[in-house]
Amino acid sequence: LPPAAVTALQAGDVTAMLPVPEPTAHKYTRGVVGVRAGSQTYPGAAVLCVAGAATGLVGMVRYVGGADDLVHATHPEVVVGAGQVQAWVVGSGGGEGAAAALREALADGVPLVLDADALAALDAPLPVPALLTPHAGELARMLDVDRTEVEADQLGHARKAADRFGCVVLLKGRHTLVAHPDGRVRATTVGPPWLATAGAGDVLAGLCGSLLAAGLDPFDAGSVGSWLHGAAAAAASAGGPLQAGDVAAALPRVCRALLA
Ligand code: AMP
Ligand code: MG
Repeated sequence: LPPAAVTALQAGDVTAMLPVPEPTAHKYTRGVVGVRAGSQTYPGAAVLCVAGAATGLVGMVRYVGGADDLVHATHPEVVVGAGQVQAWVVGSGGGEGAAAALREALADGVPLVLDADALAALDAPLPVPALLTPHAGELARMLDVDRTEVEADQLGHARKAADRFGCVVLLKGRHTLVAHPDGRVRATTVGPPWLATAGAGDVLAGLCGSLLAAGLDPFDAGSVGSWLHGAAAAAASAGGPLQAGDVAAALPRVCRALLA
């Protein structure tokens, strides 16, 4: 492995990387992100992943999966059904369908965010740029080690996975690390422990996908996405409890504050 070069991402770095529309923009130039997430067991993951993607940082969000009605009802802006996208988010709440969803997304040849069950279906090396978003348990399974080992050395394991899979690895947890296969690592804002709640990771995956679709590379998308996610969680929590949907709702406010 190359030597680690860990940097802490600052608000100014995030502002500089935030995708801002040109005066001549139209929705397709801003990017279209596709979401293939949710399952019969976890239909709500589709809604939360879409919520993370649909915060206004891209021109359009598409959804493909079994939760069409639910997504339409909660997010009327989202276009349901396959079509051209600049990035796919695959796997959040994915269940058994995740492997097929990954195959279908790969056929488009665009960058990917792989989360949850798509990580288990991962057959490296991938032919497209990708951002992997495991928590410690998912990373442990990918590397065939114990979760406690990952928790004891988050940096080492995030770097090992980035090297082994040839992808950017965003390791979630109390501290979130984004590791590039070239040895660079970014540490991002830490959200409050209230963020340890079901669905929070689905929002993050959707958000990172929207940043990929807007043109950021996987390293920037992962680090900007996790920074914004942590900051939105802090804003939504304000010292008290929160739900995953609150984090998505707070994201535009956090971006506005950065751009002010
Ligand atoms: P997931 O496990 O996929 O639902 O994602 C959980 C989200 O909560 C990730 O964004 C983690 O970084 C975050 N998270 C989990 N535990 C903590 C913690 N103790 N403090 C702060 N953030 C956390
Ligand atoms: Mg998750």
